[in-house]
Amino acid sequence: MPARADRLVTMSETPDSAVRTYIDDHRAAFLDDLVEWLRIPSVSAQPEHAADVRRSAEWLAAKLLETGFPTAEVWPTAGAPAVFADWPADDPQAPTVLVYGHHDVQPAAREDGWTGDPFEPEIREGRLHARGAADDKGQVFFHTLGVRAHLAATGRTSPAVHLKLLIEGEEESGSPNFRALVEQHADRLTADAVIVSDTGMWSADTPTVCTGMRGLAECEITLHGPEQDIHSGSFGGAVPNPATEVARLVAALHDEHARVAIPGFYDGVTELTDRERELFAELPFDEDQWLRTAKSTAIHGEAGHTTLERIWARPTAEVNGIGGGYQGPGSKTIIPSSAMVKLSFRLVAGQDPDHIEKAVRAWAADRVPAGIRYEITFGAATRPCLTPLDDPALQSVVRAMRRAFQQPVRFTREGGSGPAADLQEVLGAPVLFLGISVPSDGWHAPNEKVELDLLLKGAETSAYLWGELGERRHRAD
Ligand SMILES: [Zn+2]
Repeated sequence: MPARADRLVTMSETPDSAVRTYIDDHRAAFLDDLVEWLRIPSVSAQPEHAADVRRSAEWLAAKLLETGFPTAEVWPTAGAPAVFADWPADDPQAPTVLVYGHHDVQPAAREDGWTGDPFEPEIREGRLHARGAADDKGQVFFHTLGVRAHLAATGRTSPAVHLKLLIEGEEESGSPNFRALVEQHADRLTADAVIVSDTGMWSADTPTVCTGMRGLAECEITLHGPEQDIHSGSFGGAVPNPATEVARLVAALHDEHARVAIPGFYDGVTELTDRERELFAELPFDEDQWLRTAKSTAIHGEAGHTTLERIWARPTAEVNGIGGGYQGPGSKTIIPSSAMVKLSFRLVAGQDPDHIEKAVRAWAADRVPAGIRYEITFGAATRPCLTPLDDPALQSVVRAMRRAFQQPVRFTREGGSGPAADLQEVLGAPVLFLGISVPSDGWHAPNEKVELDLLLKGAETSAYLWGELGERRHRAD
């Protein structure tokens, strides 16, 4: 049939085959470069590697210039430096996209259980083994191959979007200076969308796009009773005991349905839509297997929600530590002078950390009895972020990934929390996640690796994405 023949001709001429050919042809050089970068032990947590983290930033900036970015700069912070790069589109109307990742890595030493030197990358059986291979150098670096493939396949001299990169150097140390860095350079970081390439997908044969991350608020509550430990025989039963009161607070954190019982805690929570719940349920999730990775023997959580809903889309309150009184051998019959608990709250879209802090303070004030003095201190909070399924930029990521993987793309969320939320908040741009790492990649663990096929699929997705996002703008116009 002529219609089919037409389609075949068109398909063979689509940029997709040109992208794949470009990636195949440049795969070896790309891997050589990545291996060179992975040899730099840019461990941000260890002061003896501070010079390596700087060297890693300089290496990346030079490589981005070589890739074609007209601007690539090392941005100092109060801690380790970040790298910024900028490649304007020819079309001034093109949307601006900011890619976020990090060039620092977790500590790694052979004696932690590595089979080889963590900073001497090795390619074995289709995998690249090295600290930072997946988290996050590999996932930053695939964009350099992606943007070159995008240009080669489309005949462009500059990307279809105004492309910016911000690659921080302290992510593995909790990003202590990231917010200040973003605020300081907000005028150069403006973007219509942020692409975070520091996540993964469900599995090698189930490509997924993550649509959100939970936020985090943390506090420590210390209760003080008697001025010093006192005799439980002489005084016990007649004055309040701070350890008992800490236990009461903890016991009052949840109701019998495992919902958080702090008044106002759920204010503003963005509930899952029926469609999102269906999509979560379609993922090939093996709960027994998951329970083994949780090193636990039973499932527990908020009534009315599945495990995936609980870890991705529901807020939580957890006790991270609790203590007080005598903990040595034998007995010591006292009423302790103080007791403490550390709490953390994972937050979902619609929850505001400031509101949570107020709610927790009011809840504690309401519950701590007379005769007990208490302090609550809150650490820095991380906001949640969520992109709705129908967001046009998210749809562009999905289309780009589908073209690369030639499979349907499903959706996940991330239960953890990260600095991406700062970008969303300061820049006011939606945050999208593009990651190709799989759970077996061993982030933060010995023998970290990345699957080469997936790494190259990441480059391919990146190559399609700039066209998809650029085109979206024109369609909207
Ligand atoms: Zn990371």
